[in-house]
Amino acid sequence: MNIQYTEKLKFVKNFLRQNDAKLIAHYYVDEELQKLAEDTGGCVADSLQMAKFGSQQKESKLIIAGVRFMGETAKILNPEKNIYVIDKDATCSLDESCQLEPFQKFCNSFPDREIVVYANTSAKIKAISDWVVTSSIAIPLVENLASQNKKIIWAPDKYLGAYIQDQTGIDMKIWNGACIVHEEYKTIELKKLITHLGDCDVLVHPESPRSIIQLADVVGSTTKLINASQKSKSKNIIVATEKNIFYQMKKLSPEKNFFEAPTEGEGATCKSCGRCPWMDLNTYKKLINIFTGNNELLLDELVIRNAKKSINRMIEFEDKFYQESTRVS
Ligand code: SF4
Repeated sequence: MNIQYTEKLKFVKNFLRQNDAKLIAHYYVDEELQKLAEDTGGCVADSLQMAKFGSQQKESKLIIAGVRFMGETAKILNPEKNIYVIDKDATCSLDESCQLEPFQKFCNSFPDREIVVYANTSAKIKAISDWVVTSSIAIPLVENLASQNKKIIWAPDKYLGAYIQDQTGIDMKIWNGACIVHEEYKTIELKKLITHLGDCDVLVHPESPRSIIQLADVVGSTTKLINASQKSKSKNIIVATEKNIFYQMKKLSPEKNFFEAPTEGEGATCKSCGRCPWMDLNTYKKLINIFTGNNELLLDELVIRNAKKSINRMIEFEDKFYQESTRVS
């Protein structure tokens, strides 16, 4: 640990204590912020776990190092707390692709279908939906709805939607959104890297295009990919998701080599080059100035109430699903 980090840690510990705040970070923010969250008693997790962790904290303020919808989810589950985001401009292409008015119109044209939305949506979209899901629970939840003869609208990620359809054969009406990071992975270059490395495992987030998923040894949520990187018997791991996840993977397996799935090559536009431009807006400097700006996230009470219903339905389903799978295994 370098001196500069030690000093920063000391400062942030005092800063959080004095402001009665807890720092909670996503796997995709930079290594330093992830470390600061861990070393100050906060957590690093996926968006839902971040919000759930927040509910268990005694502090009155939660600082979210991530993107806006993560802050909103934290507010929905913790309306009595003050939620701050490090940069209010940090959004997400999936969230941005799914605006209230056009999405409502889309849903209205399929009135007999349940609306299932991914966590990467705004609070307003969650509030008009029947279900919110994370990538870890999307397939069992969609299967469960289909087993009750319910028809489904899926939003906003077309790639995750296509993956769920491929896995389950269930028909869904899918919204046309995409993550600009995962959409950039290039199939031919990934094949070349696999051939070049020989002994390797390929871990892919399902927000990636089908042709990338087809090359995967493991497909799953951020948490699943981190666990898979540790369990893998290969020395070389290729990862198709935001590069800052490497911090957690390297911590668990320092002896392994980690490679980014290629984003350059035929047809490349290099919109993101495997980095989320909005996650990159989270910096140490902004963190320590967070209470001097307009960084608190406020949401309409009705939006909170309605969005909470669809999130809580998922949490109940998730708890039941994992209890049942533990009983079966
Ligand atoms: S990596 Fe993609 S899905 Fe995640 S926040 Fe950035 S744009 Fe959104």
